[in-house]
Amino acid sequence: CGIVGYIGHRKAYPIVLKGLQRLEYRGYDSAGIALYDGEQLKLSKTKGKVADLQEKLENEISTDGTVGIGHTRWATHGVPNDENSHPHYSNSGDLVIIHNGIIENYDTIKKELIKRGYEFHSDTDTEVLVNLIEDVQVKEGLKLGKAVQIALNQAVGAYAIAVFDKKKPDEIVVARLGSPLAIGVGDNEFFIASDASPFIEYTSSAIYLEDGEMAVIRRGKEIKIRKINNDSLV
Ligand code: GLU
Repeated sequence: CGIVGYIGHRKAYPIVLKGLQRLEYRGYDSAGIALYDGEQLKLSKTKGKVADLQEKLENEISTDGTVGIGHTRWATHGVPNDENSHPHYSNSGDLVIIHNGIIENYDTIKKELIKRGYEFHSDTDTEVLVNLIEDVQVKEGLKLGKAVQIALNQAVGAYAIAVFDKKKPDEIVVARLGSPLAIGVGDNEFFIASDASPFIEYTSSAIYLEDGEMAVIRRGKEIKIRKINNDSLV
């Protein structure tokens, strides 16, 4: 399983797609990509191989846009099928998430969210997490990075995640606990991946997040890294 992301000045799609191919060796049962083209946030996902995704995606959505995230899934919660594949939208459709790992207390959180009116379209623990982030963000009027941090402090488990909010299309928020995550730093562009292989051809500068760290990655800005359980920057 693996995660890939790009935010910069090039087209995100070919970089993310090739990145997923580079991570195929890690094993997976499904694949998906979300792209933002400046107006719309769209995703395409499928059970099967990255080659199957490529065929489906190019018939389904625009491959323009300079920000995107991609995922290969090794199912833990919910069978391998198209709906359970990542990325997952939040209920508003504004947020998308990709996640490797497990949210152990997802069932408790899911019941709480259902009481608050949330609906679920998959059997995954991941869809619970993206809606928890949205709930925190909306309820408390917070920035995405802060909402992700608060949500992760309510979650028990292991994860590498990347979250994108179309209301703030110049940033991607990432976090890791128990699963790997590397950030490639280019010239006014950033790459996200489970290991450096997807971005090695574009940059030799990489930041490997420590376990328990998260980062807010903004187009053209310094990366802000902090501990998930502590607000101060590291
Ligand atoms: N637990 C998540 C799922 O079943 C992520 C699995 C993975 O690591 O790919 O969808």
